[in-house]
Amino acid sequence: MEMKISDMMQGAKKVAIFGHVKPDGDCIGSTVGLYNYIVDNYPEVVVKVYLEKFADCFSIIHGVDKVEEYCQEDEEFDTVFVMDASTADRIGAGGLKMVEKCDRSFNIDHHVSNPGNICKVNYIVADASSAAEVLYYMLDADKVSKNCAEALYMGIVHDTGVFKFSATHKSTLLAAADMVDKGVDFPRIINDTYFSRTYKQMVVTGKVMMDAKVILDGKVIYGYVTREMMNEYGVTSLEMDGIIDAIREVEGTEVAIFMYALKGGYKVSLRSKYIVDVNKVAAEFGGGGHVRAAGCFGYGEPEKIVEKLAELIKEQL
Ligand code: 5GP
Ligand code: MN
Repeated sequence: MEMKISDMMQGAKKVAIFGHVKPDGDCIGSTVGLYNYIVDNYPEVVVKVYLEKFADCFSIIHGVDKVEEYCQEDEEFDTVFVMDASTADRIGAGGLKMVEKCDRSFNIDHHVSNPGNICKVNYIVADASSAAEVLYYMLDADKVSKNCAEALYMGIVHDTGVFKFSATHKSTLLAAADMVDKGVDFPRIINDTYFSRTYKQMVVTGKVMMDAKVILDGKVIYGYVTREMMNEYGVTSLEMDGIIDAIREVEGTEVAIFMYALKGGYKVSLRSKYIVDVNKVAAEFGGGGHVRAAGCFGYGEPEKIVEKLAELIKEQL
């Protein structure tokens, strides 16, 4: 059943919007897009948007400067939105507490791994390109401003790898076409958020590319950034985006694995091109995501984590 934001906003007076931990372009685009839409069309409603820290490049998007980093437990809202998050433990910035406290909570998402039980109402379109696209079709198109469109366009761009991943449907391109029609500055959004990286990030990407290894007859490529490397190059976990996209370009590879040191273990990213369901692989590690892009967390030596992942990948090749 189709759901509309106008129905969810019925009677709302104080609204909070949350995303997932370690927000990415789609998470920022869908939360800020919804924020902009509510500001534009519900002037009497108080609306807040909360996200964990993210890279500075996103600040070119209108409304990103309104994002607050953490929602205190004693805050009260009558309506809570959770965008692009697939499990309760992935809700960021104090949002889980608000979901638990609030009678009207809405999860808007596109992850196949989403069990659909985070909020009171869960609207999940599992094959959609992005949470931003799901949200766009829940809005009244005439009421989408250029500011709102800008954030949503960014969400779509990031989760489709600029319209190239298989979850890019006709509906995705039509949504993007509407946004171009609204006047969004798409070259700037694509260049300055998706393809942008810090100098140090570029250097560490080069290092990972140089050290990357191929296994399973060249079908799998992997690379990682250890804590020591992060210290050596002076990069933070906010500068790991895009590294996996660089290594997955190697000819003949079906799966790319990228890992970086985080909280006593490794944050693992998985991408596949045509065959392997990486969501299944990530699920074995307690993670999740999509068929062609998923993530999880691993403990121990990086080479050991790769060994375990490779076993699971091999079963599918
Ligand atoms: P990334 O590799 O870019 O962090 O994430 C790829 C996709 O997998 C994203 O859609 C993200 O939401 C999902 N994902 C990443 N890490 C995890 C995780 O630890 N658990 C779950 N459930 N999903 C994840
Ligand atoms: Mn997403």
